[in-house]
Amino acid sequence: MKRSRRDVLKTAGALTAVAAAGGLTAMGAEGNAKEEYYADRGASGQGKPQGGQRPAVYQDYVYGGPRGMARGLTLLTLRVKGEYRLGVKTEKGVLDVPEAARTLKMHAPATMDELLQNEDGASLNALVESALKSPKASGAFLKEEGIAYGPVVTRPQKILCVGLNYRKHAQEIGAQVPKQPVLFSKFNTALNHHNGTVKLPVDVAVKFDYEVELVIVMGREAHNVSEADALSYVAGYCTGNDFTARDLQYETGGQWLIGKTPDQFAPVGPYLVTADQIDPDNLKLECRVNGETRQSSNTSDMIASTRHIISYFSRVITLKPGDIIFTGTPEGVIYGKSKDKQVWLKPGDKIACSLEKLGELKFELV
Ligand code: MG
Repeated sequence: MKRSRRDVLKTAGALTAVAAAGGLTAMGAEGNAKEEYYADRGASGQGKPQGGQRPAVYQDYVYGGPRGMARGLTLLTLRVKGEYRLGVKTEKGVLDVPEAARTLKMHAPATMDELLQNEDGASLNALVESALKSPKASGAFLKEEGIAYGPVVTRPQKILCVGLNYRKHAQEIGAQVPKQPVLFSKFNTALNHHNGTVKLPVDVAVKFDYEVELVIVMGREAHNVSEADALSYVAGYCTGNDFTARDLQYETGGQWLIGKTPDQFAPVGPYLVTADQIDPDNLKLECRVNGETRQSSNTSDMIASTRHIISYFSRVITLKPGDIIFTGTPEGVIYGKSKDKQVWLKPGDKIACSLEKLGELKFELV
């Protein structure tokens, strides 16, 4: 039976922390978990545990509400056998979190979304610590060269973006420095991953452009938060590219949305580095096209800081765990060049973006 992406995600979620439906007891949550777990395997019940037994990994776990965000970790989404799984980059390799949880009979969030939505960093930190010490878990460590990456976050409720947020970028395209952050959005269908491809919609656009950006991933619900507190709501940071079709952005009647959110136009990754390890106000960032450096700047050139962006948005939009925010791009985009020097991106081009401490995001245009 062909399985949809939604079903695949449901399975990955059901395999471990299914008790997470808002304070349910383990017994109450178990019913929901079984329904999803079995429904995903079709009418034949193939793979269904015998005798109605709950998988061992659930047995001693009672969800007690949010326990805090993960700390000190470099996280990623693995694609394994058609599922998205939470992974952690360690000195022993990339830990397949659901696999380690099964092996060690511990509870841990199975996917990045589960980690963020349930704010269950404590379980993850405990599992990683045990896996690094236990010889039994050695089979759960994978060589990073061999893994397939998924989108860092797969189901954000919102993808928010800030435009014109670097002084030199505003200057290069002849725009005024905005007094307040300029907000637009992308949809989940735009999400893309490290080593992915962007299929250019060449029948509707030709002016394709890159925008390397720092991406914020929210870890706690934020409503009307102060700048001083804003960063305590962040789960982590990623490298991203706010990929854009300039002709759709600027030549479709005064709205940016359609030029910003074609399918696959939001690559993010490869990692989410937990917020406790990062100063978002001072990170070098670069974008290269076919090995040639096109953008090279520092987040210190931002007009609205990450603190201000979160605080400002949170006054009118409740930010939820798992929401992601693209924070703007520095100078060096193709659109900023004089018209005779604008050579737009094309199929076959290879894009590489990097942010200091967050890793290099690569993707290819097709
Ligand atoms: Mg942008």
